[in-house]
Amino acid sequence: MIKRLAIVVPCYNEEEALVDTNAVLNDYLKSLIKKKLVKADSFILYVNDGSKDRTWEVISEAHKQSKYVYGLNLAGNKGHQNALLAGLMQVKDEVDMTVSIDADLQDDVNAIEEMIKKYYEGCDIVYGVRNDRTSDSFFKKFTAESFYKIMNWLGTKTVYNSADFRLMSNRALDELSLYSEQHLFLRGIATELGFKTDCVYYKRNPRLKGESKYPLKKMMAFAFDGVTSFSDKPLTLIMVMGFLAIFFSFLAVIYSVIRHFTGHTIQGWTSLFVSIWFLGGVQLVSLGIIGKYVGKTFIETKKRPRYYVESYLNHDKKK
Ligand code: UDP
Ligand code: MG
Repeated sequence: MIKRLAIVVPCYNEEEALVDTNAVLNDYLKSLIKKKLVKADSFILYVNDGSKDRTWEVISEAHKQSKYVYGLNLAGNKGHQNALLAGLMQVKDEVDMTVSIDADLQDDVNAIEEMIKKYYEGCDIVYGVRNDRTSDSFFKKFTAESFYKIMNWLGTKTVYNSADFRLMSNRALDELSLYSEQHLFLRGIATELGFKTDCVYYKRNPRLKGESKYPLKKMMAFAFDGVTSFSDKPLTLIMVMGFLAIFFSFLAVIYSVIRHFTGHTIQGWTSLFVSIWFLGGVQLVSLGIIGKYVGKTFIETKKRPRYYVESYLNHDKKK
């Protein structure tokens, strides 16, 4: 039995990239259908994440021209993760599997075929993993690598060098729909789901058109979110740091007492000054981290909707 596939593509200000991307994805989907790997009514879903440019016009136009193109228009910019989630949730009951891929096609579409084969072999989640980052700048490579290492150390499990290029079965998506958090970190959740998974390796290309929507500031916020949404290890670290500082100050007291009784009173202005500032800094950072967790709890307790669907263009027969 062949199954139905949806390729879900989040798009934010991608008018430049979309025309090429759409041509590539259309051809690729047609080839998959021809090879009888997926059903003939499989499709590509573009999710417009409140773009400020003509992205939605481009998607609507493509929808008119191709029966393979569907479009989901979100009200407002909700971020990559939410846009992707919106797309996945929109189609999860209509299809058997989804593949998510970025609009800039930095990920190699040709890996999709192998993902689908693994799906037929019984995998519910198949990760696209870059085995080579030569196309990224040194800076991007370095930050990305540190990102995975630190994340894993802090207790957020992710698949090394895998982003949001991933196949998910509708069973896995049902499971994902139960995660109702606002601070969404899909690649971390995917490893939590615990289905049979596998990886497909590919080479990552440079972005062809448009520019990266992840400047350093956004990337750091994303990494921070990844850690604080999955683990409370930072809180433990703060406590350990506190104990160490106390222990250290005890040592200092003993040391100065010994010095005092051996007749060398410590002049210690500098040491006093430095330690006050250092500990003050440590305390402020610690408060900040705790504050972030409290803030997150605050946001989560409101349980606000994560996105609003403004319109949905599709070629499905009305039920
Ligand atoms: N994106 C989105 N909403 C946003 C930012 C980005 O839907 O607020 C989409 C964007 O259009 C692209 C994907 O997320 O399809 C990844 O963004 P980008 O390629 O800029 O990230 P990078 O590859 O540089 O990490
Ligand atoms: Mg990109």
